[in-house]
Amino acid sequence: MGIDLYNFKELHNVDFQQEINKKIATIISQNSFIEGEYNIYFEEEFAKLQQAKHCLLVANGTDALEISLSVANVKPGDKVGVPGITFYATAEAVLNQGAIPVFIDVDPESGLISPDSLKSMMQQHNLKAVIPVHIYGLPAPIKEIEAICTERDITIIEDAAQAQGTFLPDGPVGHTNNLVTFSFYPTKNLSTFGDAGAILTQNDQQAEKIKQIRNHGRGSTKKLGRNSRCDHIHAAVLHQKLTNIEQYNQNRRTIAAKYHESLKGLKVKTLPEKYLSTSSWHLYPIQLSSIEERIKLQKGLKAKNIYCGPYYEHSMSQTIGLTQFSGENKNANNFAGKTLCLPIHPFLSDSDVDTVAKAIKDILI
Ligand SMILES: *Cc1c(COP(=O)(O)O)cnc(C)c1O
Repeated sequence: MGIDLYNFKELHNVDFQQEINKKIATIISQNSFIEGEYNIYFEEEFAKLQQAKHCLLVANGTDALEISLSVANVKPGDKVGVPGITFYATAEAVLNQGAIPVFIDVDPESGLISPDSLKSMMQQHNLKAVIPVHIYGLPAPIKEIEAICTERDITIIEDAAQAQGTFLPDGPVGHTNNLVTFSFYPTKNLSTFGDAGAILTQNDQQAEKIKQIRNHGRGSTKKLGRNSRCDHIHAAVLHQKLTNIEQYNQNRRTIAAKYHESLKGLKVKTLPEKYLSTSSWHLYPIQLSSIEERIKLQKGLKAKNIYCGPYYEHSMSQTIGLTQFSGENKNANNFAGKTLCLPIHPFLSDSDVDTVAKAIKDILI
């Protein structure tokens, strides 16, 4: 038996399945398959949990970003800041809008967007928006970014796809005045049985616009929309999962703290201690001294049936299809490839963490 990155069996255990089956039976009996009552329950409760005024469910996390860019009035040819370390979808959403990504460098310790780099890229490029990403679940420095962006009227869209459960200094992700996007893809902290996403906003007009766009522009007189509705069944799954999500995120934090202790003195760099209580720990990344060491460790762990992921093997500027775009990439290029994400999920036991730590020690000596 190995140690996997995820444990869907426990997440979707028999008790959970019973609850979901009841909800699905209700949905079938109502013939209400799109935007049903569970959509409303979830939107209300999730907005409250994340301290936002509005939550709008959409079809997936990439749509959440694209629709937010539309709401921010980002037009073809406009420039949008994207951090050098993120999942491809952040840059893809910008391209799908016809806009141009400008890569913002990252903090070398965390991989999070660097406010200093944003400042210098803003001087070289006329940015219409910026998408700070709460990568791995770590809180991005939103306050610092807000201080920079308000002077220039640059819209901030927080990509919180990995950050359900993350705390910023003054509250949960979602409490700011920015557009905040989530993905509920099956591997995320809060997830459904397929694709779904959401956008949070404090602004009534933005919420109204999102409602129109996600449903073919309905309710507006002449605006083009799209289909980015969330199926009722997904909303029901998400609503059911709200029951346990805070406990599960707490489990992740406990596991991260245990990794942090267990890996001390080994030839790996863990994230700064200040993140232990604030990250959602969607992923638990460690940094190796070189790409070769990362490959060696990944292979060694796999041979012991411990499954890890090199998130992210390439920075945005090193990614096929993105190499032609400008930006500042030094730290991101140095960060990418040396990162290995260890198994972390709410059901990992203390002895699993010990097993992983011991295996790392054996491989790296
Ligand atoms: C998962 C993810 C997305 C995209 O979400 P989808 O639901 O797969 O479209 C965007 N950004 C980040 C950082 C992600 O991790």
